[in-house]
Amino acid sequence: MGGTNPKRNRQRGKEAERAIAKRVGGKRVGILGNEDVEHPVYSIEVKSYARFAGAKVLEQAERNAPKGKVPIAVVHVRNQQHENDIVMVRFKDLFIKCPMCGRTFLPNEMHYVKGKPQQCKRCKNDD
Ligand SMILES: [Zn+2]
Repeated sequence: MGGTNPKRNRQRGKEAERAIAKRVGGKRVGILGNEDVEHPVYSIEVKSYARFAGAKVLEQAERNAPKGKVPIAVVHVRNQQHENDIVMVRFKDLFIKCPMCGRTFLPNEMHYVKGKPQQCKRCKNDD
């Protein structure tokens, strides 16, 4: 079925919020008028759409990205400051899964060897 049942759509929204909160190690707050997911660094708004027109911009970046580069899309709205441009990036490119404990971390919280994430700061402290 399509995304036209309001009750079902709210349900889908909550499910998406829960899934994202779990992945980022944040907390789903999700009360109307507040942030959806609380996180030490980010304040996260989660949307779940049947389709998203903006995705084609990121897909173009992915098609054109040389191997090993992280594709991101920057959308500029005319007459707006570039500081306010919107950046799209795949979840997996922003939140990195620790190969040792499976929790997700920001890129600067991971330790790398030859560009590959080895362990998170928590696992490193447990060494
Ligand atoms: Zn870890």
